[in-house]
Amino acid sequence: MDYLPIFVDLRGRAVLVVGGGAVAQRKVELLIDAGARVRVVAPALTEALRALAGAGRIEHAAQRFDPAQLSDAALVIAATNRDAINAEVAAAARARNVPVNVVDDLELSSFIVPAIVDRSPVIVAVGTSGRSPVLARWVRARIEALLPPQLGRLADLAGRWRQRVKHAFASVAERRRFWETALEGRVAAYAFEARDDLADLELRRELKRARARGPRRTGEVVLVGAGPGDPDLLTLRAARELQLADVILYDRLVSPAVLARARRDAERIFVGKESGLHHVPQDQTNDLMVRHALEGKRVVRLKGGDPFVFGRGGEELEVLARHGIAFSIVPGITAALGAAAAAGIPLTHREHAQTVSFVTGHAREGEEGFDWAALAREQQTAVFYMGVANLGAIVAQLAAHGAPPTRPIAIIEKATLPDQRVICGTLATIVALARAASVAAPALLIVGDVVRVRALLGQGAARITEARSA
Ligand code: SAH
Repeated sequence: MDYLPIFVDLRGRAVLVVGGGAVAQRKVELLIDAGARVRVVAPALTEALRALAGAGRIEHAAQRFDPAQLSDAALVIAATNRDAINAEVAAAARARNVPVNVVDDLELSSFIVPAIVDRSPVIVAVGTSGRSPVLARWVRARIEALLPPQLGRLADLAGRWRQRVKHAFASVAERRRFWETALEGRVAAYAFEARDDLADLELRRELKRARARGPRRTGEVVLVGAGPGDPDLLTLRAARELQLADVILYDRLVSPAVLARARRDAERIFVGKESGLHHVPQDQTNDLMVRHALEGKRVVRLKGGDPFVFGRGGEELEVLARHGIAFSIVPGITAALGAAAAAGIPLTHREHAQTVSFVTGHAREGEEGFDWAALAREQQTAVFYMGVANLGAIVAQLAAHGAPPTRPIAIIEKATLPDQRVICGTLATIVALARAASVAAPALLIVGDVVRVRALLGQGAARITEARSA
């Protein structure tokens, strides 16, 4: 380890910044956030720094650097564009044992300013020992995506309760166990939603229960949309729920890459349909959900795409409601949106489609309710889910209701997954094309003139597909 990361309390302490340009400005802003008394030494300042000086938020010495200015400084940052001055500042600081950072000059610096993820009071600092600031920012972006935006609220809550919890338990182990469970689940969920009063209430209950060693609370079920397959398309909340789950009940459409984002020791139960095998009947899925929740577990019911789009999400929630089990819903990117983006087909377009319909391709199930004439009309897009098996029937119905044989249609197989395929044709050609390509589920049909826009996007669309299949 080349550097020891530490967090320095600069509240009310003097920090010297030498330089008045844009780089200095960024450091000054950071230092002000940390509560430092900032003194800037520079002949000229950026407009923002001038404003800060004018408002009395920083002190400004419009002069050349002089080692005497370091007298009471806790830290110094040299951010001028003159190497000689930066070196002079560094030498003077070292002579006085004042920690110094020279921007972009590792040799002259005695400390580095890390990339930070600020969820105050939680702060994550990322450094690469000066090897690559770009890499540090990349790491930071990943952590940014991992941590709930309201994490700071949870830390504040823990801070508020720390003493009370400490007094409530005799042993450190008990206390730790309490916090481990209390900081997940409902308390966290409320804190993240900025409902501090409910979070406090819930924590008070948890504390009471833990002390009384009463029965465990009833669990809850979170209905989570897993998106179309690419794990990058999970919502931040879905990713968080996967990390909190005790049990995950997942469908066939949930990709292994998505499942890999789940907490390592979460129990994973497959409740989907596997070709050739009998699928887990809906009743059994319902029973599993209810049983695990009543055991006090946090159950994630993970569904491909969005749970409320051809996902039976509504039916499962009715069961939970009947059993008085708490639930919440996390939306997901439905296959139509994932496929459209990955294939480069805009679902609406000012010239070609003012409406888009999501339709089940289980024609047999829904045939009577279907308004085929409406779906066959121009100036709209129809997206068929579960339509590959019935492709022939769908094409025939559209044609019989007036859609021209030249109406474009695209099949997007395994949208957003590494082996995605896009097959484009017209109502006249698509059945033969699909057969030749041996298209298999899961696949979506997009019908409408918007499919032609994909060809116009040319290069871009090609790149989208290549990137997916690379
Ligand atoms: N709730 C899901 C849809 C479930 S119905 C959602 O919102 O996406 C199952 C159908 O979704 C499949 O038959 C297929 O038509 C479509 N589908 C789901 N994932 C897909 C994918 N990655 N690529 C293409 N189609 C997909």
